[in-house]
Amino acid sequence: MHIGRSWGGGGHLEAACPCPLEPCGLVDRDKVVDECDQHSPMACKTMRTGHRPEDCPGVGRDVVVAIGRTETARSTVIDAASMEEAGYVNLFLLDALDDYRAAVEHEAAERIRMFPETPAGHAADWWDAATIPDAIVNEIDPETAS
Ligand SMILES: [Zn+2]
Ligand SMILES: [Zn+2]
Repeated sequence: MHIGRSWGGGGHLEAACPCPLEPCGLVDRDKVVDECDQHSPMACKTMRTGHRPEDCPGVGRDVVVAIGRTETARSTVIDAASMEEAGYVNLFLLDALDDYRAAVEHEAAERIRMFPETPAGHAADWWDAATIPDAIVNEIDPETAS
């Protein structure tokens, strides 16, 4: 089984843990690293997504890696902000915010790159070019899709 701790595919927990990532961005139950505090049976954590290796979509790892980069950049912003004194902004915080923005944009770009290989991408009407941008944007910004 390929397993993960988030709904709907791999997330920041998979990106940050020591287990090797499968092409889908999930972790193979048989390759879970003992010291992993997320996927190891000893951790007793709920797996919320999974599929058999033969059902693996084979895409998504780049997105999970990008999610991990965003998460790291976000932590750096929080660390920089917690060093702030009132009324004082250090340049490290501004750099950290720039890096965070770059990481978020990279994550969105990886989602777009993966889109043609996803179920939604397979279902998209590639002959009707007018619908494609909508379909792709919904992949990276589903909340505002209607
Ligand atoms: Zn793990
Ligand atoms: Zn898989």
